[in-house]
Amino acid sequence: MTISRSCGLAFGGSFVSLPTPRKAQALVRFSLFLLLIVGSVSRVSSQERSAKLRLDSRDSVKQEDPPFRGLDASLYMLTSAEYKACCLQAFRWAGIMAKEKLSTRQDQSKPAAVVIDLDETILDNGWFQSNQIREVAAFDAQRWERWERTGADKVRLIPGAKKFIDQLRELKIEPIYITNRNDKAREQTKSVLERFEIAVPDEQLLCADEKTGSDKTSRREIAAAKFDILIFVGDNLRDFDERFKYDRAVVGDKRSKTVEELQDKFGVEWIILPNPSYGEWNKRFSNSKADVELLYK
Ligand SMILES: [Mg+2]
Repeated sequence: MTISRSCGLAFGGSFVSLPTPRKAQALVRFSLFLLLIVGSVSRVSSQERSAKLRLDSRDSVKQEDPPFRGLDASLYMLTSAEYKACCLQAFRWAGIMAKEKLSTRQDQSKPAAVVIDLDETILDNGWFQSNQIREVAAFDAQRWERWERTGADKVRLIPGAKKFIDQLRELKIEPIYITNRNDKAREQTKSVLERFEIAVPDEQLLCADEKTGSDKTSRREIAAAKFDILIFVGDNLRDFDERFKYDRAVVGDKRSKTVEELQDKFGVEWIILPNPSYGEWNKRFSNSKADVELLYK
């Protein structure tokens, strides 16, 4: 065996070309890269397989397809500084507008109030969303009801929410909470708020029941009869007006058109917080790969 100048080996008269040291290093790096790719793909596949196995054993759980579709939305809400900044910005502006409207209102016969939604406006249900992803599960009303009754210790506050509520108290503006949490879980909802030192008189917590369903119109009317409502704060357009209800029978994006028609209310009367995880906006989806087609419309 002889070693050639071109870094090759001669075996019994035949010459085998070997890479130079630099080429060899590159070859090793490339091989490692390939191994990493193969390893991560098989890891993801095995995670998906095991998640599906868990899911298949629980018939009552509706599956998301493609799996983990809510992952980025939940990561955005739970980990991004941008989400935090959006919430702080919304509540800061809500405080400015409430104060301005308080100082300019003409009719002072009724106490001033602000109507506020609870879930993903004041209360952060990130644990529920994360758990849904861990189980590759689609939203299910029964799971949510269970969460309302038993998840109180895992609920957190949306950034800026407490400061806003404290500011209202200083300005002597009453917060009226209109929520689609079930009235049957009223005490649990109150205990969540009390855990964050947010006191709620019973008449200022208007939950959903069989009569109201998710339509907040009648509860907004009840609030308006007793209070002078300065602004509304929510994460779902239906927190402001029932015209934003998603209707499967309507062709075209009626909700977006309504936003354009009523655009002067945003930032003045209606303050909206971001919620990329769920809401009226994703009711048009079918929790299946068919949703991908919407990207091309
Ligand atoms: Mg909400």
